[in-house]
Amino acid sequence: MTIFQTILSVSLISTALAVLVVIADAIFNNYGECILDINNGNTKLTVNGGSTLLNSLAANRIFIPSACGGKATCGLCKVQLATDVGPVLPTEEPYLTDEEMQDGVRLSCQIKVKQDLALSIPEELFNIEQYETRIERITPMTHDIKEFRFVLEEPKVMEFKAGQYVQIDSKPYPGMQEQVSRAYSISSVPSETGAVELIIRLVPNGICTTFMHDHVKEGDTITMRGPFGEFYLREGADELIFIAGGSGLAPVKSMVYDILEKKLDKQMTFFFGAVTKKDLYYVELFQDLEKRYENFRYIPALSDPAPDDNWDGEVGLITDVVAKYVETPNNKQGYLCGSPGMINACINVLTGIGLTDEDIFFDKFT
Ligand SMILES: Cc1cc2nc3c(=O)[nH]c(=O)nc-3n(C[C@H](O)[C@H](O)[C@H](O)COP(=O)(O)OP(=O)(O)OC[C@H]3O[C@@H](n4cnc5c(N)ncnc54)[C@H](O)[C@@H]3O)c2cc1C
Repeated sequence: MTIFQTILSVSLISTALAVLVVIADAIFNNYGECILDINNGNTKLTVNGGSTLLNSLAANRIFIPSACGGKATCGLCKVQLATDVGPVLPTEEPYLTDEEMQDGVRLSCQIKVKQDLALSIPEELFNIEQYETRIERITPMTHDIKEFRFVLEEPKVMEFKAGQYVQIDSKPYPGMQEQVSRAYSISSVPSETGAVELIIRLVPNGICTTFMHDHVKEGDTITMRGPFGEFYLREGADELIFIAGGSGLAPVKSMVYDILEKKLDKQMTFFFGAVTKKDLYYVELFQDLEKRYENFRYIPALSDPAPDDNWDGEVGLITDVVAKYVETPNNKQGYLCGSPGMINACINVLTGIGLTDEDIFFDKFT
């Protein structure tokens, strides 16, 4: 057999195999039309089976929170199923408590629609919209943080609570064909409903942050969904302790402005932890608020100031600085935002002072 004949036979066999795979996929993954019965018949959707529950709902504009875009790494896309769809998968287990498993709670990104399903979804998720937006302004804040301002083009209005987040979709770029969806907290104030601002820190080799930092420009369009999340101001305490690091400043900025704008009778202290002065941003903005409002105090702290930082502010881990200023738990709530490590350490400090778990709210940027 000549080399030409060998190449031809290998190509023919490969093509035949590919055709077989496509045919098998069409036969075995064809579950026909399936009915999704949501909240005891309040909403009934007819969908083509074969897709994940998360995607089938999104195709019908019901957007379940999902910070990782369906990879089972964030655990946010929980829904309660009344239909038995088989045992909980190993990918779901880390995110579900025993009680949730008993109640039929599952990760919608891991459930394939293969039959009619009855499920429950919190009513507020029906208000989540998908927005087409245009980047109006990009402002570098530090060496690895940028602020983005998006004008909402369709729909034109987003109602949200200070502290909530949106999910934005990246697009393929040179060297990255994968398109992902990631969560970013809104840093602008809810009274401005026609635009949202986000603060995005570049994660080395991160798909979405590399897209946003290196591959978008002012005027580009971006798709986002929202608002999502349970991290927002609660009734109760009059003294609020905000603690953030890095881009965790975003929801705190929104909450502080919201409280000041609404003239709520709250005493606020904002602890912001950074390593050196080059990691600080919005310093003048918060110092200015401190001058103008008696009920707002801003305490930035550097854990390892550089010699030429000429830093005369607080030095040390943010946990130590918080412990120095916050002495009693009376009438206080803590709102924490940033990396899981920072949040866990701050929860320990606040509970050590005497705040209960019910007094502490947080968003971990996983
Ligand atoms: C509720 C919420 C709110 C948030 N708000 C903000 C915010 O306001 N601002 C902000 O900056 N961030 C925020 N985040 C974090 C944000 O959603 C993203 O997780 C973050 O920006 C990283 O996304 P990415 O796509 O760039 O990184 P990813 O591509 O997800 O990568 C993250 C890391 O994992 C590594 N990695 C990726 N793939 C692999 C692999 N296959 N093997 C090994 N390592 C890998 C990457 O190198 C990188 O270090 C928030 C998160 C949550 C859950």
